[in-house]
Amino acid sequence: MRKKLSYVIVVVLILSIFNNAAGYAVSNTFDIDQFSDDDIVAETIWLTDTNEAFATWDGISMDSLQYEEAKTTSSTQSSATLTISPSTAWTGISATGATRTITVTTNVSYTVSMPTWITRTNVTGGFRLEAARNPSAAARSGTVSVTGGGITRSFSVSQVGAPPSLSISPSTNWINIPAIGNATRTITVTTNIPSYTVSRPSWLTVENVSGGFRLTAQSNTATTARSGTVTVTANGIPASFSVSQNKQYFWYSDGNNVGFWSGIISVGAPEIIGAVPPSFNLFNRASEAQTIWMSALGIALYPNTHTNASIQIFGGSLAEMQKESGDSRDFAGLCSYPSMATVASIAANNTMRTVYRFSGRSKTFITYGIEPDYWTEDMIRALVVHELGHALGSMGHAPNINATMYYKLQWTANGTLSTNEARHLRQIYDDFR
Ligand SMILES: [Zn+2]
Repeated sequence: MRKKLSYVIVVVLILSIFNNAAGYAVSNTFDIDQFSDDDIVAETIWLTDTNEAFATWDGISMDSLQYEEAKTTSSTQSSATLTISPSTAWTGISATGATRTITVTTNVSYTVSMPTWITRTNVTGGFRLEAARNPSAAARSGTVSVTGGGITRSFSVSQVGAPPSLSISPSTNWINIPAIGNATRTITVTTNIPSYTVSRPSWLTVENVSGGFRLTAQSNTATTARSGTVTVTANGIPASFSVSQNKQYFWYSDGNNVGFWSGIISVGAPEIIGAVPPSFNLFNRASEAQTIWMSALGIALYPNTHTNASIQIFGGSLAEMQKESGDSRDFAGLCSYPSMATVASIAANNTMRTVYRFSGRSKTFITYGIEPDYWTEDMIRALVVHELGHALGSMGHAPNINATMYYKLQWTANGTLSTNEARHLRQIYDDFR
């Protein structure tokens, strides 16, 4: 401030000396008030000769020190200026992107700030802005600011969102989910919408994973299947697929396997080997046993010749049956299984079981008992029902000691099938045959 004060004094001296006393005029005058102490450049005061007698510079009769001071008087650069064009808001930028060139008129250096989705390239006279493609369905906005010399020029920018999109993978139906729980499916969600919701049946749990979500099926303990729909919704856009979970099978067997015949099932007329007592009327007992199973399974068993039947029945003494079957054990009845092909895994009592399709021929062997205790007619019927049950698909034994399919027949057995015995095999014929 002291220095600034001295400039004022000098100028006043010059004006008074040259204009009024010595005959010189001062040109290139300036406004002392624009000086600042911070930004000083040299400024020369020019003198115009108006009198020949005092034409020389050196002859100026003034305090030379003061004059030199005046000659080197400094002034500031002119004030900082900064304008931009266009300066209006840049709105409605297409989601695919756009550019705008800004002309900057200034006498100072400047900086530019902008949202991260806008990039700047310097061009002659200013810069060009390029708004990137907006991948999101959400609009976005911000501010571009040009700052220099303490001046800031700003305008707002906004870009519309891309068309909302949603896709899921896989999008195929998720069916035949095992009744036993913990089956999972991971869904990848591709969307430009910030968030989405998942609706699903209550027996499916959902958890977020990277890029989507994972569904886990709970165990279906019911003997009926269940189904529903999984729907992913984002911004009103749905993507869905169907889900269905198998039922839990009813199981009444000590085995894990079960079989069935498809197509025509024929049972041959029994072939009696060797001499048998008159009470061993296997033809009638086999016929009764077939009727019992046809009723239990709701299917037809067609009569056939012994040779051509899918299920062949042999009858005779234990020795003959051992010889015919090749099995040397003591048995009342025996069943040899035909060819089998795996067709399904099913859940029963929360255990996975295997379902087989039978083909070819099955052989059943019935003995007439050890003398003198021949089987009764009821026992023979029960024997045929039991072995025919194996031949038709019961590949295990019923757990109840009184059941016809119990592994050891009671003397009181007559071939009656309990509800559970019938249900165990019938559900297989109903579902797979
Ligand atoms: Zn058995």
